Parts: sequence; structure tokens; C-alpha cells
Amino acid sequence: MGVRPHVVIVGAGFGGLAVARGLDKLPVDVTLIDRQNYTTFQPLLYQVATAGLNDADVAHPVRGLFHRQHNLHVRKGEVVGVDWDRQVVRLADDREVAYDHLVLAMGAVATWFGVPGADEHGHPLYTLSDAVTLRNHIIERFEAADASPDLVDEGELNFVVVGGGPTGVETAGAMAELFARVFRQDYPTIPVSRARVVLVEARDALLAPFSKASQQAALDTLRSRQVEVRLNAAVDDVTADHVRFADGETLSTKTVIWAAGVTANPLARALDLATTRSGRIEVGRDLLVSGHQNVWAIGDVAAAPARKGDAALPQLAPVAMQAGAHVARQIGRLLEAKPTQPFHFRDKGTMATIGRRSAVAELPPRIHLKGTIAWFAWLGLHLLYLAGLRNRLSVLLNWFWAYVTWDRGPRIILHLDAEPKD
Ligand SMILES: Cc1cc2nc3c(=O)[nH]c(=O)nc-3n(C[C@H](O)[C@H](O)[C@H](O)COP(=O)(O)OP(=O)(O)OC[C@H]3O[C@@H](n4cnc5c(N)ncnc54)[C@H](O)[C@@H]3O)c2cc1C
Repeated sequence: MGVRPHVVIVGAGFGGLAVARGLDKLPVDVTLIDRQNYTTFQPLLYQVATAGLNDADVAHPVRGLFHRQHNLHVRKGEVVGVDWDRQVVRLADDREVAYDHLVLAMGAVATWFGVPGADEHGHPLYTLSDAVTLRNHIIERFEAADASPDLVDEGELNFVVVGGGPTGVETAGAMAELFARVFRQDYPTIPVSRARVVLVEARDALLAPFSKASQQAALDTLRSRQVEVRLNAAVDDVTADHVRFADGETLSTKTVIWAAGVTANPLARALDLATTRSGRIEVGRDLLVSGHQNVWAIGDVAAAPARKGDAALPQLAPVAMQAGAHVARQIGRLLEAKPTQPFHFRDKGTMATIGRRSAVAELPPRIHLKGTIAWFAWLGLHLLYLAGLRNRLSVLLNWFWAYVTWDRGPRIILHLDAEPKD
């Protein structure tokens, strides 16, 4: 790698990719490490889980993104530790990678809030394999009900979504649409109208960060599409065949989709760095990790300070992307012996889709959109940020096809757990 400083980036998600791209023109060598050979566009995972998109539409091989960036090497590997004194990153295969600058961008994982059984029986929606596993599971429930219609009475077609944030709202809305429009025709012999989608939220409103008007719009739309929304309701216990709510009521179900929140990647704590109570790495305003001069943390794994107050910036893609670009600039400044600058997040707004021709969008300073116009804004923005032209075209075609025909894409059960051949 010569004598140029070596920047190692852990994680090729929104944040890691932004750092890598920002280092393109700098006199550094870059190694981008990810445990997967692809990057995942998490905001569209729920569409994979509900048979709206193919799995490969929302993932892109990392190497394919950097053909023209000659100072960057992609490495597939799982980081398991860092030796801070020797400045080396340790991988699961016992190999080591030395760094001059280290950027930690390994994202978050689902959090179960200590609810008994949630970890074992709940379905998280954080990775591509989570989405495919969930899609398999949902279709399997309908296949089982088709083979034994009595199972419907036992709750085979009851689907519980825990968490009324954007992921929960989007998933519940998409499932209701899939059942009403597609499964009704796929499974003509079972009473698909008896399939229940129950969205459970512990607070008194859906979409917590949104305005009251947007929250109400989401609630009204979901209810009009036959989603049972339970506000001020918490799940206390999850088993293989039911959930129990905090008020003691139980509901038979074999499907609990856990969209209740995320926590920082546990590697953050394992690295012995200062972390917040939620496990996010403490960083200064310039995004340097507390107590380090050449270690940075960005995105979901970091607690980047907001401009006002003590709160950290939210775990959202734009925060990770802007932080990644900022860190690349700061590394450039340090190479020129200039001081680092504070990170200022520019909030360009938030959106959530509820289903066909229905979304809410809130853009600064006070533009609130809902319905069809917000839905088109949501579609356009997600297409723009999706990695790779081929993926964008494929997603566009899928959406266009679904819009025109009301049909859905890959309703296939795909189990990839066979033993690999030597
Ligand atoms: C279902 C879902 C929907 C979402 N919808 C939205 C949305 O609509 N809008 C929005 O703004 N945000 C959304 N988010 C949040 C957004 O996806 C995250 O804020 C964003 O991905 C954070 O970027 P990141 O770079 O920190 O982490 P990630 O994008 O998660 O990337 C982390 C990378 O690190 C890799 N990694 C992890 N551990 C290791 C290790 N030990 N060694 C090597 N590699 C490792 C992972 O494989 C991954 O590629 C959503 C999240 C989810 C889960």
C-alpha cells in the first residue's frame, strides 16, 4: 500500500460508502471491509418481505460500486476487534488489517426490549436475509391454511407487527395490500378476508417523529385498508403460537414482525469504547471517537451530537450519508495539517409510505404532504438513493407493473439453507 496513509472503513452501508466515495481524490489508500459482499438498501426491505421487490433489487455488490476508484480495495470479512495500541483491525478469520485512520460504520441490530420470546419467535427486518425469511414465512402461512383451512380459526393468518414507526407502518400497509389484492386470487379456496394484520404501538400515535396531522393520516389510511391498529398497547410475551399484550389479552399468531426499534451494533461495546446507554459510540462534534485522534464513528453505530440539546442525531440514512462525507473531508483536512470542523446535519425532511398512492412527507421548513403527491415524492427519492442503475430500473419496472396490474412480484418460497458443497 506504499507510504500513503491507510484508511480502513468498517461497514459498507450508507455511511461507509459515503466515506469511501469522499476519499476518492485524496492521497490515501482505502480498505472498505464488510461482512457481506453487498450493500443493502434497508428502506425497501419491507417490499422484499411483502413480495413487492426481488431481493437483488435492494442490494448491490460493493465491488461493483468502485470499479473506477483506484485507491480503494474492498475486503469481505467480519471485524471482531481492534488492537488500539498496534492500530490493527482483527477479522473473524484471524487476519489483521493495519490502519492510520479507522472509520466505524457497522450500523445497528434489532432490539427486543427484553420482551420474553421476542428474540426467539419474532421476525426482525434489518437484513436482506431477514426480509427473505419473512417473505417465506408469510407465504408458508397461506400455504398451510390452503392445505388445512381449519388453521385459520387457530390464527394461522393473524399477522402482528410490533412498532408503529415508519417500518411498522410500511410493512403493515404493504401486507394488507398483498393479502387483499393478490393472495385473494392466489388462494381462492381460503377465506383471505379473515387474514388479520394487527399493528401494535406502545405510544398513543403512529409515526412518532411526524406531525399530528401526518400521524392521523397514517392511522386513517391504515384503518381504511383493514389494518387493525392498536395504540397504547404493548406486547409482553411472544411464543410460537400467540402474543400476550400488557393488558393480559392474548392473540393467536405464528407471525410477529418486530419493527420496534434498533440498537447499535454490539461490536461497539465489545471494542471498549465510550458508549451511550443505548450502546452508540460517543463521538465529538467532528465525529472523532472520544479519546481518539484517528478513529471516527458514523451512522447508526454512533451518537453524533445534534446541534441543539443533548440528544443524538436520529438513526437515519441521511445522517449516516452526510456524516460519511464529513469524515472524508476531515481526513483530508488532517492530511493538510488543518484542524477538524464540527458536523452539521442538514435535515432535508422525512417520509413514510403507507401503501399504494398514500404516504406522508414533511420537508423543511413547514411543507407537509400526504396522499398521492407524497407517495410519488417517496418513490422518486428512494429511486434516487438506490445504488446502481440496474437496480433502479428494475425497481421502477416492478413498481410500474404493480401499479398498472395490481400484481405483485416474487411470491416464491426460497430456502437457501442447504449445506454448501466443497
Ligand atoms: C427496515 C428499515 C427501514 C428503514 N427505512 C429508512 C427510511 O425510510 N429512511 C431512512 O432515512 N432510514 C431508514 N432506515 C434506517 C437506515 O437504513 C439506517 O439509518 C442506515 O442504514 C444507517 O447507515 P449505516 O451506514 O450506519 O449502517 P448500515 O447501512 O446498516 O450499514 C452497516 C454495514 O456494516 C456491516 N457490518 C456490520 N457489522 C460488521 C462487522 N462486524 N464487520 C464487517 N461489517 C459489518 C453490515 O453488513 C452493513 O453493510 C431503515 C432501517 C431499516 C432497518
